[in-house]
Amino acid sequence: MEAIKQLLEQNRKWAEDREQQDPGCFARQSKSQSPKILWIGCCDSRMPAEQLTGTEPGDMLVYRNIANLVNLNDPSCMSAIQFAVNVLQIDHIIITGHTNCGGISAALKGNTTDDLHEWLEPLQGLCDQHKEELNSCCNHDQRVDQLSALNIKQQVLNVAETDVVQQAWKRGQQLSIHGFIYDVASGELRSMGIHISGTD
Ligand SMILES: [Zn+2]
Repeated sequence: MEAIKQLLEQNRKWAEDREQQDPGCFARQSKSQSPKILWIGCCDSRMPAEQLTGTEPGDMLVYRNIANLVNLNDPSCMSAIQFAVNVLQIDHIIITGHTNCGGISAALKGNTTDDLHEWLEPLQGLCDQHKEELNSCCNHDQRVDQLSALNIKQQVLNVAETDVVQQAWKRGQQLSIHGFIYDVASGELRSMGIHISGTD
């Protein structure tokens, strides 16, 4: 229970400090939110979205799952995108994967069962599609990072193909989708140079 007690204590301290630095911040934020970014990332404990981007509460809507997958049949992810685009009218969706991803590694090893196996199923298709490229990597760690990169590109495309995003672009809504990778060994967040800003 020590870890749980510590969490609550740290929270009290965080809230006090924030209120001291910016009096009235919680009262103001309690009224509404208007983030400009939807962050879709892996839920790995080593990549806390807000901390590594230096963003504050209210800056980003964050949605995380194992291996940062955008599954068009997943109502949880689809509703996050719908809310972000239609209600919050965010400007950017960022798909962020990372190096040394356990979900990606498990998919490559093919040793998962039950729900996890089902969740990681889309990665199997990606492995088959890029078999040669992945086989040319010299070891498992390199294959993991290569598949992470391929996965980020695929998820950017998946987001672009959602009805919500397609409709937003048809309406002329400004909305861009980006692919980022986070290096857990250095703390560096890098753009993968993938940006989609419309149906073209
Ligand atoms: Zn991961």
